[in-house]
Amino acid sequence: MTDPSCLFCRIAAGQIPATLVHEDAEVVAFKDIAPQAPVHLVLVPRVHLAGLNDLTADLAPLVGKLALVAQGLAKAHGCAATGWRLISNCGPDAGQTVHHLHFHLLGGAPMAGRMV
Ligand code: 5GP
Ligand code: ZN
Repeated sequence: MTDPSCLFCRIAAGQIPATLVHEDAEVVAFKDIAPQAPVHLVLVPRVHLAGLNDLTADLAPLVGKLALVAQGLAKAHGCAATGWRLISNCGPDAGQTVHHLHFHLLGGAPMAGRMV
């Protein structure tokens, strides 16, 4: 369920320090170490999945939970009304660098250009 060599498993387990902004039985969220926006949070499930390619039907509710936690964090960090993005990079073309499923919550300023 967890991978001892995985950075985000280790952050979720408290073995590597991070600035946590949310923690519950299933989900941990922390500030990104290299923020790309005034609000840049990373949300991860405690269970190890490499990314959305590995999501299975039994774990699908976890994605809803992550979205709900993101909504709460957007409110708590003052960007629910002004706008925010939730992004999961999956695989090399998307630029995924950490191979544990995660969502970036970005907000706090207008985002330059459109991604889609
Ligand atoms: P990806 O590129 O896989 O979509 O996102 C990985 C994110 O994790 C990057 O935005 C990167 O800055 C962040 N990150 C990498 N290592 C660490 C770390 O040790 N601590 C924290 N808080 N964030 C990290
Ligand atoms: Zn992991």
